[in-house]
Amino acid sequence: MRAAIYCRISRDNEGRELGVGRQHQDCRREVERRGWTVADLYVDNDLSAYSGKPRPEYRRMLNDVQAGTVGAIVAWHPDRLHRSVRELEDFIDVIAQTGATVATCTAGDYDLSTPDGRFTARILGSVARKESDDKSRRLRRKHLELAEAGHISGGGTRPFGYESDRRTVNRSEAKLVREAAERVLAGESIRGIATDWNARGVQSVTGKPWSAHVLKRLLTSARIAGLREHRGAVAATADWPAIVDRQTWERVRAILLDPRRQKNAGRTARRYLLTGFGTCGLCGAKLVARPRDDGRRCYVCASGPGFSGCGKIRVLAEPLEELVRDMIFVALDSPATAAALSPAPDDDDEGRLREAIRQDEEALAELSRDYYTDRAIGRVEYLASRGPLEARIDEAKRRLADQTSQAGVLADLPVGDTLRDEWESRSLDWRRALVKAVLAEVRVGPAVKGRNRFDPDRVDVVWRA
Ligand SMILES: [Zn+2]
Repeated sequence: MRAAIYCRISRDNEGRELGVGRQHQDCRREVERRGWTVADLYVDNDLSAYSGKPRPEYRRMLNDVQAGTVGAIVAWHPDRLHRSVRELEDFIDVIAQTGATVATCTAGDYDLSTPDGRFTARILGSVARKESDDKSRRLRRKHLELAEAGHISGGGTRPFGYESDRRTVNRSEAKLVREAAERVLAGESIRGIATDWNARGVQSVTGKPWSAHVLKRLLTSARIAGLREHRGAVAATADWPAIVDRQTWERVRAILLDPRRQKNAGRTARRYLLTGFGTCGLCGAKLVARPRDDGRRCYVCASGPGFSGCGKIRVLAEPLEELVRDMIFVALDSPATAAALSPAPDDDDEGRLREAIRQDEEALAELSRDYYTDRAIGRVEYLASRGPLEARIDEAKRRLADQTSQAGVLADLPVGDTLRDEWESRSLDWRRALVKAVLAEVRVGPAVKGRNRFDPDRVDVVWRA
């Protein structure tokens, strides 16, 4: 058997201690032990902080596996091979196509041709490790916060996150601010976070309970990014330290200031996972959340005044939501779907959108100056130019908000059973963000007459991408 040896130097703990020399030596021994021969050695230097950096040698190795010039891959540990869910899933695809053997020095063989083997690989891979690290870090942080939050004294009008000199960072509050920013990026609603803070006894600076409004003002304020604001625009870098880095802050702002957000903050929609996604299989209208007379939650195609539907579809919410949830789990388990669904957040695209917004906002300001201050243009001209500019800014902000909230929820997504646990422990807002990230539409057809039980065949899901 001709084997490829793969080594990777990286910045993580394992990689720092584990030079290529050591990896290579152990792998060579493993090849000999099995009576194989070394076909080639592939080494990537992955020291860049950005873990999505391409690995040319890894690519070349997979090509050789696909071409059939090597029949086995030997690595020190599975985490040398895959850095993310996507990479693991792509790897599983290649192995499934070629039937190549995968062996590691520290975790033995793993058989990627069976569901059990794939599950083990996912657990062994760096993804699982990172996820569990993150989870315990999150838990530790939560305990610490709870302990510390009890000591915060109220009173005064200092800004939350800073001491009364308005310069010194209050560490426990700063952590809360960062936590809230993360949660917004992961798709939670500002109201949900405020409720949670109140339940946890987090004190505001005035001593009043947190409201969505106050929390939103905090998270969108330039102060927490270490910036000074003047009339709604960032004027300068401030002389106090930032609590949240600028890019995170801008993403949070893009989501919270999304013009669509204010409009559909309806309360009834909040208990329903699929509002906005469900459509009528007969007439195509959006399904509306509406409880039955006995109080059980339903989605209906609504007809009558104010509604455009045919009125012929009604479905119980619970079994429909469970079915869609399970379909999402299965889809994210399948390598092809998972890979297709999670487009990496395109930083270039994000930068372009931001730049476009900035330019349009500048043009808008200039236009106002021309009209109000300099009287260089008339009212008709002013209004005619302002409309399209505002529409374009709104549209760009919408796209930015979509991109960031989807990338946010997909970026940290665990796999397999961990995903199922995560779903159970998360808020409805988080679940809705995940639904939004992966599917475009849930079409519900008519029930077969006389059939009382929920019929999954009525449901058709349209995936994104
Ligand atoms: Zn209908």
